[in-house]
Amino acid sequence: MPVPRLTHLSELARETRRQLWLGAGCFALMLAAALIALHALSAQAALQRHVERGQQHAGVALTLQQQLWSYAAAPASREPSIGAEQLKRSVEEIRLDDVSIGALERRAFAAAVDHLSEARASAAAGQLDAATATRAALADASAALRQLQHVQTEALRRQQAQAAELANFARQVLIGAALLTVILGLLFGVLGWRNMRANRHALGQLDQLAHEDGLTGVLNRRALDERLPVEQARAIRSGAKLTVVMIDLDHFKRFNDKRGHGAGDELLRGAAQAWRRQLRPTDLLARYGGEEFTLVLPACDSAQALQLVERLRPLVPEMQTFSAGVATLELGESDEELLRRADQALMQAKRGGRNRSVVAGKEPQMALPLRVA
Ligand code: GH3
Ligand code: MG
Ligand code: MG
Repeated sequence: MPVPRLTHLSELARETRRQLWLGAGCFALMLAAALIALHALSAQAALQRHVERGQQHAGVALTLQQQLWSYAAAPASREPSIGAEQLKRSVEEIRLDDVSIGALERRAFAAAVDHLSEARASAAAGQLDAATATRAALADASAALRQLQHVQTEALRRQQAQAAELANFARQVLIGAALLTVILGLLFGVLGWRNMRANRHALGQLDQLAHEDGLTGVLNRRALDERLPVEQARAIRSGAKLTVVMIDLDHFKRFNDKRGHGAGDELLRGAAQAWRRQLRPTDLLARYGGEEFTLVLPACDSAQALQLVERLRPLVPEMQTFSAGVATLELGESDEELLRRADQALMQAKRGGRNRSVVAGKEPQMALPLRVA
């Protein structure tokens, strides 16, 4: 089993940071796209407003033209239905948001109306021929009105063109932003997928770290504590045998004292690895602590367990011997009791002279010396 590399966890953190930045970028871009879209919508609405305003102005100008003609055509001796003041007020209605646009022409129209009204007054007083007097003034007023309409129409056209340009620009930017968002979204997806993989990998490594003994590479005590109850429950359910073996190296302190701690470590690792290769995939080998190991053997009775243990003896390097206690699960027994019985059997093997196996409940028969140290 490869030794877990913790650098993967920092890589995971980096990947997560990268993703956060990218997510923030995506969000900012989408926000900008949404703002531009809103702007484009308002430009579109302004365009529509300008068109309506233009139509309205054209209508008012036409009515004003008719009123002007009827004012001029009314006999000088009679007051016309629409007076000069009303005509001047009506021209004020033709006005864009910017009051300066057409102000000059509005003033010219008002002056022409005044002129027309004076001509009518003179004609009424018999000083002038009514037709001659009004003709010139009417022409002036009409020209001023036409000019006003022209100026206003031009201004409207300019505003419309600006609004259309803005809407067009916004549309293009929006398309660009949408494309970029799609690309960033893809990138985000790839990063997310990579992050998920890194996560899975890191979790696997953490799981391995949590359940593996660092020195020997076999299961650690925590894993044993988790797995033994599961195996016990499975054995009860299936009715199959379950045997536990406690193994303790003999006089290992002496070995350490003689050969050094490094050699002791090497021996522990070598023995554990060699033992593991002898086991079935369903068997468990855990380092119980120090120089003690535990075997959990499902579907295995004590006789089979003893055979296995004897196969393991010669695999320990340096002719190092060990003692073993074997216990098979009994009816109604808990996993802790089972482990305790195996440990008691191990103590019996130690007391009996070491380098031997003892089966719990059958001590006298099985306490045989097996290997010459
Ligand atoms: P016994 O036959 O009664 O088991 O004697 P023993 O010396 O094996 O038992 P004892 O409990 O007196 O000492 C256990 C020794 O195992 C002490 C320690 O030096 C050694 N040991 C425990 N863990 C490690 C380890 O991780 N590495 C090495 N090198 N030695 C260890
Ligand atoms: Mg011990
Ligand atoms: Mg020992």
